[in-house]
Amino acid sequence: MTRYRDFHRRSIDNPEAFWRDEAQRIHWHTPFGTVLDRSKPPFARWFVGGRTNLCHNAVDRHLAERAQQNALIYVSTETGIERHYTYAELHAEINRMAAVMRSLGVKRGDVVLIYLPMIPEALFAMLACARLGAIHSVVFGGFAAPNLAARIDDAKPALIVTADAGARGGKVIDYTPLVDEALARAAHKTPHVLLIDRQLAPERLNAPYLVAYEPLREQFFNAHVPCEWLESNEPSYVLYTSGTTGKPKGVQRDVGGYAVALAASMEYIFQGKPGDTMFTASDVGWVVGHSYIVYAPLIAGLTTVMYEGTPIRPDGGIWWRLVEQHKINIMFTAPTALRVLKKQDPALLKAADLSSLRTLFLAGEPLDEPTAEWITNALSKPVIDNYWQTETGWPMLAIPRGIEDLPNKLGSPGVPSVGYNLTIRDELTGEPCAVGEKGVLTLDYPLPPGCMSTVWGDDRRFVSTYWSSVPNQQVYSTFDWGVQDENGYVTILGRTDDVINVAGHRLGTREIEEALSSHAAVAEVAVVGVNDPVKGQAAMAFVVLRSAQPEGDPSERARLEAELAMTVDRQLGSIARPARVVMVSMLPKTRSGKLLRRAIAALAEGREPGELPTIEDPAALQQVRDALGDGGKN
Ligand code: ATP
Ligand code: MG
Repeated sequence: MTRYRDFHRRSIDNPEAFWRDEAQRIHWHTPFGTVLDRSKPPFARWFVGGRTNLCHNAVDRHLAERAQQNALIYVSTETGIERHYTYAELHAEINRMAAVMRSLGVKRGDVVLIYLPMIPEALFAMLACARLGAIHSVVFGGFAAPNLAARIDDAKPALIVTADAGARGGKVIDYTPLVDEALARAAHKTPHVLLIDRQLAPERLNAPYLVAYEPLREQFFNAHVPCEWLESNEPSYVLYTSGTTGKPKGVQRDVGGYAVALAASMEYIFQGKPGDTMFTASDVGWVVGHSYIVYAPLIAGLTTVMYEGTPIRPDGGIWWRLVEQHKINIMFTAPTALRVLKKQDPALLKAADLSSLRTLFLAGEPLDEPTAEWITNALSKPVIDNYWQTETGWPMLAIPRGIEDLPNKLGSPGVPSVGYNLTIRDELTGEPCAVGEKGVLTLDYPLPPGCMSTVWGDDRRFVSTYWSSVPNQQVYSTFDWGVQDENGYVTILGRTDDVINVAGHRLGTREIEEALSSHAAVAEVAVVGVNDPVKGQAAMAFVVLRSAQPEGDPSERARLEAELAMTVDRQLGSIARPARVVMVSMLPKTRSGKLLRRAIAALAEGREPGELPTIEDPAALQQVRDALGDGGKN
């Protein structure tokens, strides 16, 4: 581990020297002076005075050498459309979009809210904003009108870019009624809405504020819009956190630090070289999409694959066939997608030629050991779990194979990435925990480049939310709970909200989930804490079985429950044993695949979960309700 250790140590001991070198990876129109301005902790300003542009670095800079290389491969299994754009073509499309936005009055510093499905125009619009120096705020297309309205009021856009419809699993979702409703609810008056007409939903251009994109695109077909050279610390975008745990926070990102961090991550973590092809199966509405569908692969000169559709339509082999057809080298998705694929016919994976694929990256939620083992064996390629947040913009924990070929550790997303001064701290004292001791994952000041600069429009909230929760220390809290081993590998044990206190013992829900999912009958599991008059809290487990539920056979179910209890006893001790095991056939999740533990816990305590930002399938909540109401004897 010495190479990694030395490298990481240098990034912490002398961040200025370390990041000055890394900054050479991107183009600076004007060189920066100070590498790091530490004058106002916990705020950090990187590459002060340097002027650059994200669109220039992602596109224009590559025209000299790779104008004819594909920059973007777009595939939609919803519409059957496949389109390829070379760097030269991408450049032209972005210029058209930027000219259209400019004609609608958008200028440097304005916010453009992008509410689009997975279509190439989403990427064009983001990069057009970057080109103009406008601040994009992409709102995931699956959000409902009230969520969209809240983001409109917080971001105060000068323009909204939307489409007639999204499509998912063969179903068309009209967007314009949602936008109408959101605009009516919002206090902020957005002057223009630019509509990309995919011809999926009925023509609705009669609304007075709607402007059709296509005729304007024609009008500005040969436009050239110069890149605005922004100071490194000007905002590039605002992205709201997923809202899994509460009111979403507007994460503000800078320009220069973000570009440098992403470029570094492409070498040290993702090992993407110019000319490689990367397929990040996520959504541009999430941070993984911002960083690894749009910016990082293009900054590093790769071809990025953008996919609209589900992993199982037309069948569960579609992603593997995409790898074969487009000679994809790097793939990135969330564990939830793999759990879906695991249920598919294994022949579908075997049938595809996956020889081009080097590595599969997974992030967004805990990667359970059975899923990790399954996919590692099925692919015979490295599978790299990586841990980060909307706030950090790029992985905090991973296996930095571009630095040193460290081994994987099952159940752990790896070791701290360069620049992250990560310490597990005792929640009550703020002191660093010993090896093997559980605590909160915190980051010491300064956060590395690429991390959030502040909460949009609310510096105080940045300090009070993120830098004030650990006693006696001004450190950044991830609000995740974990443990580090003697080699530096960190295991995430759940969110601090999800840590439960059973008769004075603090347990991460993730530990109990891991124990339960090691049982062969278990496909998926969520553990939540519920109030208990005697122990303070008790664990309750919601289990999805691999095969059909033993509905009619109470003795079979009782036997299984006893076995599950024993599995937990063996691995964690009887203190962690769930007070109740509830069988369901589906768990409530956000559209990004995260378990809605708070909602489950509310139901388990007989409360209603309240408004949820996104939910994959509302029927899952009803299932939990029904299963709980099952005479308490489920
Ligand atoms: P909000 O902050 O609004 O509640 P959120 O935390 O779900 O939403 P994201 O920033 O998308 O929004 O998710 C980051 C969180 O996801 C992390 O803090 C962590 O809890 C979880 N997470 C991400 N990657 C991993 C991983 N590899 N292993 C375990 N947990 C992960
Ligand atoms: Mg969060």
